[in-house]
Amino acid sequence: MSSPSQVPETLLTDFTVDVPRAEYHRLLGYPPGHQPDERIDALIHLTTAWYATHGEPWIYLREATLDLSDDRLVIDGVTFNSPKLHAHLREAGATRVMLAAVGAGSAIADRSANLWRDQKPDEYFFAEVYGSAVVEHLVASLSGRICDLAEPAGLMAIPHYSPGYAGWDVSEQNRLFDLITGHLGHALPESLEVLSSGMLKPKKSLLGVFGLIERTPEALATPGLIPCERCAFEPCQYRRANYIHAAVALPEPPPLTTNAQYTVARKALGKWADQRLHIDTHDDGRISARFRFEGSTCSNMGHPLAFDYRIVLAPARDAHRVLETACDPAPGDTGYQQQCAYLRDADDTMASIAEPPPILGQPLDAILTWQRETRQSGCYCDATSRAHKWGLALETLHYALSQKPKS
Ligand code: SF4
Repeated sequence: MSSPSQVPETLLTDFTVDVPRAEYHRLLGYPPGHQPDERIDALIHLTTAWYATHGEPWIYLREATLDLSDDRLVIDGVTFNSPKLHAHLREAGATRVMLAAVGAGSAIADRSANLWRDQKPDEYFFAEVYGSAVVEHLVASLSGRICDLAEPAGLMAIPHYSPGYAGWDVSEQNRLFDLITGHLGHALPESLEVLSSGMLKPKKSLLGVFGLIERTPEALATPGLIPCERCAFEPCQYRRANYIHAAVALPEPPPLTTNAQYTVARKALGKWADQRLHIDTHDDGRISARFRFEGSTCSNMGHPLAFDYRIVLAPARDAHRVLETACDPAPGDTGYQQQCAYLRDADDTMASIAEPPPILGQPLDAILTWQRETRQSGCYCDATSRAHKWGLALETLHYALSQKPKS
């Protein structure tokens, strides 16, 4: 039998977010105490000032019933499959839950996209990270808000859980989203949707479940259950424990499209990824790749030739942007000297072959939309042939990073 709802449904939109500078620094990757230089300081100021004016953070909370009987996890009649969340709620003695949705607002996601389009990667990165920092801060402040709301009912919140966390598959994001949005008493302040990947759009949004337990002295003294450890509400007079920052695992869109349409058959890409591609991943997340193309000249008796394509990609968090490219004859190859164009003008031909593809500086995903002709010739005598081969190298690399099962 479901308990009567005692915690009112709540939608908060008209408030400001003040992310502590130390938390923003931490998410930017700086060690504690690091003093940013002038340029970094300016980027931080630019981003936080922009958000203070244009940011539209929001929080939605609603209480829901909880049934943990028969090893099932049922929230408001909807069954979820997360043994970890089930154990977390059962061990804490949760009797109900609060469903939560928070967002940093679509304006910052739009700003990130615009900065990226305008080729301002630094500004883009700082906006992206600030969006994540806002969501972390919203979640950290939720315990305090739930404490406020649930205190009259003698309840308190325990640390939250979200789809995509260890032990709760991100594919259940859809189910949680339907549960939350199917019973809205207040419309959310902006359109929110779940993509087929399980990610939320706009990004910098998060859905979560907070267990509610009886507010007893024992519960308030139990390590791991003390909500104050995850609550950033500084002026609270009831605080029982110091705030311990717990990073919110904000699901990010995958850096590469996973259901890509290639111009080349996947079977061929798989074979080339195995036989012709060599990938090194660096400590900072950058990726160096070498793709060997083997063909033959179209005339002069069809001499075999081989070229090496070298590509450096940015880390996944930077959408594997194409940072550097090079294309040179493979060591020991002499067939390239038999190409008609080379015989006409060697220097001009080699300079043309070395030209980067047009997606240099863009995310690797741009290979999927680069319009080019497919040309089967094995030589490099014209621009269409050269573009076609860059396409083969980049599609093989895209396939290897996004589609190929990891061994
Ligand atoms: S500090 Fe503790 S008691 Fe105070 S609002 Fe936060 S979680 Fe509740």
